[in-house]
Parts: sequence; structure tokens; C-alpha cells
Amino acid sequence: MSIDAGNLLGWFDLAERDLPWRADGVTPWQILVSEFMLQQTPVARVLPIWSDWVVRWPTPSATAAATPAEVLRAWGKLGYPRRAKRLHECATVIARDFADVVPDDVEVLEQLPGIGSYTARAVACFAYRKPVPVVDTNVRRVVARAVQGRADAGTPSAKRDHADVAALLPDAARAARFSAALMELGATVCTARAPRCAACPLRSCAWRDRGFPPGSAAKRPAQRYAGTDRQVRGRLLDVLRDNAFPVTRAELDVAWPIDEVQRERALASLLDDGLVERLADDRFALPGQDRNDSTASR
Ligand code: SF4
Repeated sequence: MSIDAGNLLGWFDLAERDLPWRADGVTPWQILVSEFMLQQTPVARVLPIWSDWVVRWPTPSATAAATPAEVLRAWGKLGYPRRAKRLHECATVIARDFADVVPDDVEVLEQLPGIGSYTARAVACFAYRKPVPVVDTNVRRVVARAVQGRADAGTPSAKRDHADVAALLPDAARAARFSAALMELGATVCTARAPRCAACPLRSCAWRDRGFPPGSAAKRPAQRYAGTDRQVRGRLLDVLRDNAFPVTRAELDVAWPIDEVQRERALASLLDDGLVERLADDRFALPGQDRNDSTASR
């Protein structure tokens, strides 16, 4: 079974969400920034951060000129802050080696810091309208259901998933918009837990035609955040972000007083990731942060 492009695109013309990174005049760099932020964070949380970010740092060179500390502060609570560091590194490479222009070739994009297979294709497709398959979790789910008649997509395989979606793409002129529409359908209608089949624009759906046979994939338990090392890392980074100058170990200790072993483990991982630096006087700072603190001896 296939997906009728005219059918899907007609729906998308009416149902497309008004997301600022889809607006006319948004540059490839600004689209790339949105893709970094959206990798592991929902749209609603990305919106305000992205909007401020692209005004403050509209180009790769403007981002590269910021310090890593400024970038980590602006990243705020988007989570997974290694992305912010990688985005800064990516900006530096594009500014230095590509004359401040985001490449349009998937293989070149994949060589840049922080850019994997999905982001490279998303940038090539959404910024440059290249007819390349763009496959995220939502797209895999829609293809599994509508085309393959299965409830869930099973284990990811980049080669197979790209081939499956490439086979669905219409002519080059409509391919990029088709990819955006497929992703939108998975995000807003054919959702993982409660697909809204009554509102679905697809005239044919293999899973629906088969009477919605149950999937074989075990339901993944909701990811816990409270009490994890991720939460402790977030608390420690909050202390550093909230202080204009380096902080003492005692100031970090109060951010997670209940478990010293876990706090030390989280701090060590932040140091390993280059998201925090230890100074010679045993204070801690964001990378590139101003160290001229008059209270350095406290
Ligand atoms: S009919 Fe239902 S299951 Fe099939 S693609 Fe549409 S929303 Fe998904």
C-alpha cells in the first residue's frame, strides 16, 4: 500500500501548525537550530527558546562568537545540554570552514558536530527542499501503520527506514512538503497512544483495513526523571547558570544534598562532557564563563 501525496498534501495545506521555523524568510541556520532543539524536546518548550535564540544569534558566526557559557545559559531548561555545546561547535565549524553558510548536502552535513543522519536529512529537506527521506519516530509509525499494516514500527534500521520512505516520496517538487506533512500527521493525528483515525486524511490505511491488529512491541514504561542522574545534572547546571561567577563546591552541594555519591557522579559526568570546568581554586564554572569574581576567596 502507498500514501496518496495529493490527499496528504491537501490535508497539510489546511492543518499545518503555524510553527515559526516554517515561516518564510527563516534561514537554513535557524532551521538547523530548531532541529537541534527538537531532537529530544517537545515543540511547546522549544518555541520560546528558539525565538529568542535566533534574534540574539541569527547566524553561525554570531553563535560562534558567543561563549559556551552564554550558549548553555540560553539553552535554559531544554534538557540534554550536550546539544547546546555541540550546536556551538557546529556553528564554529560552519562559520570557519563554510563561509557562514549551512551546507545543503546530506553527507557534508553529517560530518558536522552534533549532526546525525536524521538532522542532516531534515536540514537538507526543510531548509533546501532536497527530495531526501526524513525519518523520525512519527514518520516510522505512520509508515508502519498506513503502508505496512502494523501497529508499531519495530526496531529502527536507517537503511531500511530510508528506503521505505524514499519509495513513498512524490516528484522532487513536492517531496520536501510531503515529508513535512508525513511528520505532521504522526505528530498530531496518528499518535503513538491514541491515533485519531476519524480525523485522518488518508483514504487508505493498511492497519485500519486489517482491523487494527495489536502490535508486538512491548509497551515501554514512561521514562522516569525524578531522582535520576539527569535530574541531578540539571540541578547542578541550574546553580552555575544562575550565578554570574564561578561557584564553590558548597554551593553545588545544596543543589542535591540527599545523595553525595550521586551528586559527585553527576558532577564528574558534567566535567567529562565539558559542560562544567573545575578551576584551580576548586570552584566550578561554565566553560568560557567570566571568572573575575571579587568573592573568589569565600
Ligand atoms: S487511519 Fe488511523 S492508524 Fe491509519 S494512518 Fe490514519 S490515524 Fe494512523
